[in-house]
Amino acid sequence: MEKHDEKHCLVCKSDENTVPLVRLDYKGKTYWICPQHIPILIHNPANLEGLLPGAENMQAG
Ligand SMILES: [Zn+2]
Repeated sequence: MEKHDEKHCLVCKSDENTVPLVRLDYKGKTYWICPQHIPILIHNPANLEGLLPGAENMQAG
C-alpha cells in the first residue's frame, strides 16, 4: 500500500490534527486544504500558483 500520511493544507501546511482538512482531487493528484484557505481556492485560485500545479489556469468562480 502506498503511504499517504502527508495530509496538510497546501497553503498553511496545517495538518489534520490541527484543522479539518478538505480533500481536493486535481489532475490525478490529491491535495488537502483547510477551511481557512478554501476561499482562496474559490476566489483567487491564481494565488495558489506554485502550490497547486496548474492553478494559475483555473478560473475564479
Ligand atoms: Zn490552510
